[in-house]
Amino acid sequence: MNQQKDFQEKLQKNFQYSAFGEKKLVFGEGAQMPILMMIGEAPGGDEEKQGKPFVGKAGKNLSAFLEVIGLKRDEIYISNVVKLRPTKSSPKTGKEVNRPPSKDEIAFFLPYLMDEIQLIAPKMIVTLGNVPLKAVSGDNSMNIGDVHGKPYTLTDGRILFPLYHPAAIIYNRALTQVYQEDLVTLKDFLVTL
Ligand code: URA
Repeated sequence: MNQQKDFQEKLQKNFQYSAFGEKKLVFGEGAQMPILMMIGEAPGGDEEKQGKPFVGKAGKNLSAFLEVIGLKRDEIYISNVVKLRPTKSSPKTGKEVNRPPSKDEIAFFLPYLMDEIQLIAPKMIVTLGNVPLKAVSGDNSMNIGDVHGKPYTLTDGRILFPLYHPAAIIYNRALTQVYQEDLVTLKDFLVTL
């Protein structure tokens, strides 16, 4: 636990001197040495407000995901590549809305994500969508459309299991079945770990 506190303090300190330092950080949370570490893209509005990853609508998706694979939220560790909420001002309403994380934001947080993975030491990493897939594999040419639902061994021996980002399913209903099939593959694979 202390190591995790040190990690968060180091990130907080370096972050405040960075180009994004005005923003609020949303740290990962959950079990140490879990069977599964889930990594999303970046927090949204609910996450920023509550200071926790995957709450609000994304939290509901997560609950459905956990139900299928038969794990509880406190049995896994949940985090994001980028630990701030990337926003832009909406041209229509002028309000702050979510946007995909920028290359600079990803580059800033990537070394911390790598440290976080070593610290948490999960058996398996589940990435949601392209941003965490590319970040964790270190391979920018990887594409979720090609590798979803297929376990992949990382250079440190950990297993990466790529899934589509739940938001992709909202925009592309045809992916619903594919996503469900991937979850069943994941569930079966977890039993073998
Ligand atoms: N909420 C998160 O914390 N991460 C995502 O990737 C999406 C929603």
